[in-house]
Amino acid sequence: VELANMNRLFFRPEQSGLSKVEASLQTLRDINPDVEFEIFNMNITTSENYDVLLERIRQGGLQEKRVDLVLSCVDNYAARMTINQACNELGQIWLESGVSENAVSGHIQTMIPGRYACFECAPPAVVAGGGDENAIKREGVCAASLPTTMGITAGLLAQATLKHLLKFGTVSNFLGYDALGDYFPSYSMTPNPECGNRHCRLRQQEWAEHPEEMMRKYNLLEETEKKDDSNAELHPDNEWGIVIEDSDGCAASEEEEEKEEVVDTKGASVEELMASLKSLQ
Ligand SMILES: [Zn+2]
Repeated sequence: VELANMNRLFFRPEQSGLSKVEASLQTLRDINPDVEFEIFNMNITTSENYDVLLERIRQGGLQEKRVDLVLSCVDNYAARMTINQACNELGQIWLESGVSENAVSGHIQTMIPGRYACFECAPPAVVAGGGDENAIKREGVCAASLPTTMGITAGLLAQATLKHLLKFGTVSNFLGYDALGDYFPSYSMTPNPECGNRHCRLRQQEWAEHPEEMMRKYNLLEETEKKDDSNAELHPDNEWGIVIEDSDGCAASEEEEEKEEVVDTKGASVEELMASLKSLQ
């Protein structure tokens, strides 16, 4: 964390000198100490670290299960390619996000391996043409940065995460944000059958051969489709002991209602109040 980060990221001056993951951990723990965090300060593009990434996707969830979702918030091509490779290999849904170099547009993208285009299905023109991928991120060129564009894109990412995990609304395949035109384009991209990524092509084959099985595997069925008995209790275990009480038993809200009804007219009659209201119009 450097002081130059203060204008656009959520770090605080006293965190200057900490690694970004350590500073983020500190802030997030302050916000919610009940959440279990796990941090790795490492470059995922090396082969050794790639294995750690695969392993944590596979077993980093609760009870050492597979994680529910991977969110990509990286800022370079190689890191995106690495996450793309890992998620194609494991058949793991992930959400990609990014802000353009000129800082006035952003996007989020839902990546369902084999169902939608992966990151390698439609490579940037410079890579497709056999150019140097490092040319995409140029050394010494400082990308513009607007905390607002980043904040809005991060908000869209968090919103899509909630919609996907809690199954409400539509999670678009691609959702863009054009800050200059106040425009939010949204569309789907089918995968490229000639994608350079072997695992992407394998996942495409699985979707073509067993679409229903894949819907189940990726947990994409609607809640209503999964339910055999619509009268079944929604949360039979009720971990937090939540009960719905009759509103009669709720004294606080009744008091509030009564308060609202009592208006101090300071002795004025209804006619006088009506007259003063009219004079205002
Ligand atoms: Zn692909």
